[in-house]
Amino acid sequence: MEGDDLICNFKKCRKRLTDIAYVTACSHVFCDEDGTREFNRAKNCPACKTNLDKKFEIVRNNLQPSEQYKSMILAGLKPDMINEIASRALAFWMYQSHQEKTYHEFQSNKERERASQLEQYYEQLVSRTNSELTSLKSQIENTKKENGETKKKYSEVSDKLMEKNRQHQKLQSMYDSLRRKYISISSFETVGVQKTPNCAFNVPNMASGDMRGASHVQGTMQRGRASSFLESFISPPQGFQFNPQQAMLDQPANRVHDEFSVGLGTPRR
Ligand SMILES: [Zn+2]
Ligand SMILES: [Zn+2]
Repeated sequence: MEGDDLICNFKKCRKRLTDIAYVTACSHVFCDEDGTREFNRAKNCPACKTNLDKKFEIVRNNLQPSEQYKSMILAGLKPDMINEIASRALAFWMYQSHQEKTYHEFQSNKERERASQLEQYYEQLVSRTNSELTSLKSQIENTKKENGETKKKYSEVSDKLMEKNRQHQKLQSMYDSLRRKYISISSFETVGVQKTPNCAFNVPNMASGDMRGASHVQGTMQRGRASSFLESFISPPQGFQFNPQQAMLDQPANRVHDEFSVGLGTPRR
């Protein structure tokens, strides 16, 4: 029967004993390998270190005795003796069973304690992980919030930029419109002055963009002077009578030109 088998008391062995076993006076039992090795070395119990150098303190028994052995070993003994021998054998077996039970309880308690420690460790780990998870969730929430605020700010800045661009385009179109008007007026005036022969008045050529360095105010002033000058120039001098024949002789155009050139010269700013 497997449940009744004893176990080798050698700590590192603990083999189930089924055939040959060493039994000792100190109530320990060992397998054939461990007993042979240890008792050849010294007559001390490997389990409790008891000295076992007396006769029958170490016995090598066959746990599967033959029928003949069973018939003969206690034969001839009185019933009391037979009972006493059987009682001692039973006491040995009960002691071993009790030791085994104690060992299992000890192991069981040890495992329970270990399980409890592991449980505690994993509970702490889970708790720590949960707290880290909560912290990470909070960080994610904060990051989302910051991201939302950044997006909002970006949207506001983008709107402002678009508004500035609209204003810039509006100003640009106003500037272009004014510039076109300015160029057309200047072209007109320049054409008027250039039609006058040998005019020494230096009117800037607006059409060709010859306004570099001249401010708008200066340009306006120049155009004002040019207009008044042109009016005075186009009106003939007082007392002038046009006579084609005399004109042919006196070359009045050249005379007017000379007078004009001397009288006006180049206007100063
Ligand atoms: Zn053993
Ligand atoms: Zn012992």
